Amino acid sequence: QNHLLSRLRAASIARDEATFAQVPGRSDVSFGALFSGAERMAAALVALGVEPGDRVAVQVEKTMAAIELYLGTVMAGGVFLPLNTAYTTAELGYFLGDATPRVVVCDPARETGISAIAQGARVMTLDDAGGGSMTDAAALHDGFDPIKRKEDDLAAILYTSGTTGRSKGAMLSHGNLASNSEMLRDVWKFTDADVLIHALPIFHTHGLFVATNVALLAGASVVFLAKFDADAILEAMPRATSLMGVPTFYTRLLDDARLDRNLTEKIRLFISGSAPLLVDTHEQWEKRTGHRILERYGMTETNMSMSNPYDGERRAGTVGFPLPGVEARIRDKGELVAPGDIGVLEVRGPNVFQGYWQMPEKTAEELLPDGWFITGDLAKVDADGYVTIVGRGKDLVITGGFNVYPKEVEALIDDLPGVRESAVIGVPHSDFGEAVVAVVVANGGVLEETDITGALAEVLARFKQPKRVIFVPELPRNTMGKVQKKELREGYANIFN
Ligand code: ATP
Ligand code: MG
Repeated sequence: QNHLLSRLRAASIARDEATFAQVPGRSDVSFGALFSGAERMAAALVALGVEPGDRVAVQVEKTMAAIELYLGTVMAGGVFLPLNTAYTTAELGYFLGDATPRVVVCDPARETGISAIAQGARVMTLDDAGGGSMTDAAALHDGFDPIKRKEDDLAAILYTSGTTGRSKGAMLSHGNLASNSEMLRDVWKFTDADVLIHALPIFHTHGLFVATNVALLAGASVVFLAKFDADAILEAMPRATSLMGVPTFYTRLLDDARLDRNLTEKIRLFISGSAPLLVDTHEQWEKRTGHRILERYGMTETNMSMSNPYDGERRAGTVGFPLPGVEARIRDKGELVAPGDIGVLEVRGPNVFQGYWQMPEKTAEELLPDGWFITGDLAKVDADGYVTIVGRGKDLVITGGFNVYPKEVEALIDDLPGVRESAVIGVPHSDFGEAVVAVVVANGGVLEETDITGALAEVLARFKQPKRVIFVPELPRNTMGKVQKKELREGYANIFN
């Protein structure tokens, strides 16, 4: 048996005719068609020399063929390694050199550039319509017997988003992925009656191992959108039952006057993750649609670790509780913190990855021998057990020897009239080591620095108050809606010199 594949197939094995994907402008794709496409991909990969454990690196647009390639790689016993489509060919050099894949599948436009850096890997193509040399190679085959793979064999290497530094390859086993996605299906109650709007990229955990895997494991259908598209999402809303999104999906949809209760009447579950959902977004969404967004927390290395409850109170500004089977603790310098205090979040469970690819030292630092993984995120737990992610350890500002948690300051700024959102960072300063700087996006109107500093002076300890407020039209974000604080820190590194 192939551990992950047999599970992903279980819910649809007797329902080959049922629809897996509704793809706008194309005909529906049944489960049977999806998995026979995956078998052809698997056979083609084996013919290209892929052996169990070999990496198949993939930088392609989001198409059904790309999903078949993912499933085909797993079926062939390979290790699926998706890469962000935003990476330039020059940037891919690092990933390909690091991962040493057997096969690289890329957009035809990049074939020449990638061939020059592929270091012996076979380079194949897949375009944004699902055509290319990979599809042609697959068409020569029919049927494939999945290669045996056990729970601890690797199924994928996913590179982290690179928010805090160079991306690291997280090694994920068949067991990691199968157990986590099955649990999400159960706690979020996905069944074959669900229709999930799938508008996330498939080179990250969220779109691939949460959205795609949960839908497959439930035998649910997806409305398969190549990218976020408010028109297409609003159009699909009346026939869908769920949406998984990053916070920017929700803020952009709120900007659209068409979003209302009628449109979202059939939806049973809105889920958000990958970056913090502002309390304000949560509240506005409820006002407009009557739905309380379920926020959850996870990362490349662990898939999902925490979730607000399906039944029970979904508390805005928190990520809920550890998922069943996942243990969590919060420590500061090796000691458990007192309830309510802030420390570094650590998690342990069947979801925790196998280590960083070719980074034994980094793995040893963050993945302890007894299974606890140091997430690097700062968190606290309230009296009812709800966990709040306070920010990343690396974003903590230390000014004049005092710790400033950006989220505390950001929350106060975000509440001020005329403010849309903010990012608080530490910037080098000759007296204080670091100085607190607030980067603020106004809500249309004009704000002065003193509007912010004046309001904060009354409510915040002096050392936490921003020494400078900078107004920008928008915060730099990556495709997953994560604010790029590293970029902000670099951009404002010299403002005190
Ligand atoms: P890198 O590890 O390369 O610096 P990254 O941590 O952004 O990049 P990912 O694994 O894609 O890479 O993102 C995981 C991180 O996203 C978490 O560690 C956490 O900081 C953040 N995150 C995810 N979900 C939430 C959430 N609901 N609330 C707050 N932060 C979240
Ligand atoms: Mg990370």
